[in-house]
Amino acid sequence: MKGELTGKCLCGAVTYTLREAFRLKPYACHCTECQTRTGSAFSEHMLFMLSDLELNGDLDVARYTQPSGAQSEIFCCAICKARIYAVNNTREGMASLRCGTLDNSASVVPAAHLWVRSKQPWIGLPEGAKAMDEQPRTNEEWIAQVGIA
Ligand SMILES: [Zn+2]
Ligand SMILES: [Zn+2]
Repeated sequence: MKGELTGKCLCGAVTYTLREAFRLKPYACHCTECQTRTGSAFSEHMLFMLSDLELNGDLDVARYTQPSGAQSEIFCCAICKARIYAVNNTREGMASLRCGTLDNSASVVPAAHLWVRSKQPWIGLPEGAKAMDEQPRTNEEWIAQVGIA
């Protein structure tokens, strides 16, 4: 996922452009929290520097303390509540994009599948896909396991 990326919420009140800059590749997260939070089977995220995001429209914020103790804030459209990105206090300056909001979301291919130990049993991973039982814990692990875009 190189280049400038654009996206929007469900109702279109929030639009954004993510500048071409340092970011990691997209990944799929199969953790039970993502399942509950999204009401779905997994989520597609991509880590980027928040300073590279230009966003228009009003956002609401949801707060949640992860089991690890990390405080996360999830930003969504104030009207339709579609989630756009999240930050947490263990990743200063970084945010994770909800890749389904990208205009070209069909071209998102997860570079890695995280938390596959709680993956829904009916989901088959592509041949050769990178998979982790849990998730990277340090910046070095994130770069090694998911990779720079
Ligand atoms: Zn909206
Ligand atoms: Zn997750």
